[in-house]
Amino acid sequence: MTERQLATIRKIDSITPIEGADFIEVARLGGWEVVVKKGEYKVDDLAIYIEIDSWVPLSVAPFLFRNKEREFNGVVGERLRTKRLKGVLSQGLLLPLNIKDEHTKLVSEEGDNVTETLGIQLYEKPVPACLAGLAKGNFPSFIPKTDQARIQNIVRQYETWICNEVDWEVTEKLDGSSMTVYQFQGEYGVCSRNLDLKRTEGNTFWDVAIRENIHMKMFNKDEWWDFAIQGELCGPGIQGNQYQLARPEFFVYDIFDIQKQKYLLPAERRELCDYLCLKHVPVLWENQCPDETVKELLEKAKGRSTLSNSQREGFVFKSNLNDVDSFKVINNDWLLKNE
Ligand code: AMP
Ligand code: MN
Repeated sequence: MTERQLATIRKIDSITPIEGADFIEVARLGGWEVVVKKGEYKVDDLAIYIEIDSWVPLSVAPFLFRNKEREFNGVVGERLRTKRLKGVLSQGLLLPLNIKDEHTKLVSEEGDNVTETLGIQLYEKPVPACLAGLAKGNFPSFIPKTDQARIQNIVRQYETWICNEVDWEVTEKLDGSSMTVYQFQGEYGVCSRNLDLKRTEGNTFWDVAIRENIHMKMFNKDEWWDFAIQGELCGPGIQGNQYQLARPEFFVYDIFDIQKQKYLLPAERRELCDYLCLKHVPVLWENQCPDETVKELLEKAKGRSTLSNSQREGFVFKSNLNDVDSFKVINNDWLLKNE
């Protein structure tokens, strides 16, 4: 997995006025739109763009201070959320380049990653008690952590994929907690997003793995094959149980071959999932060649979940042809409401 690029130096693609607004306008950078003070930036200016979900130290952006000081990993700051101003969506934060110069004396170029320089972190919600558990160790190094690029950050690449008519599996993105179950050299583990967990009573990840006999199924499939099953754990006590599930459920979205260090392709994964009688995240399209623009695709992501009447978090696209290309399209209505 490449290092997170939450704050980067980018060129402003366009600036557009907002109807009925005298003091603000919209700047567009790649797939992102952010509301800025009128006249502060011009087209083609370089600026620091900081993505939503970033934890920004108040020392970098003091104006983010609201009513009281908040801390994340010991840093006083604020989280960047999706907002609507005068009816216009605003995502992230734009800062002038000289902000960075106060922190370092480096020359800035387009594309520079200044996440660390500015002390910006990816904000993660506190883990509910039923999921926390006790750590057996860090997340295993022989399995990749689950994550996808946001489409707004890969607009160019998306456009080449459209031209080449790349074929994708599209699944519904579920808002729960990432869970990994593995069989590795006779060892059987269950992991949360960041930790390999000890088997303890009352830890929902382990409880569900045991209830669904996942390790037994892996052993029976092939005790000599080292592999990991990754999915989203959803249910009571997790992210507000948006899908109104009666009990926690594990929805598979990836199967990783540890020996080959490769993900199974979508069709192989779905087949193995059927064979093992495990639930899969909802498959919206098995073979899709999108022809929408990024903006259109973001519109298309709006709507209801297939599991309940709640809003859908978004789509996840996975290439049917290789095991590396994937991206997520998050429903902006969902972001405004939930985050
Ligand atoms: P985010 O939740 O924004 O950090 O996006 C990445 C995470 O989405 C992954 O780590 C998974 O836990 C989760 N996820 C939920 N549904 C899916 C899905 N259908 N395909 C892949 N990942 C998913
Ligand atoms: Mn998530």
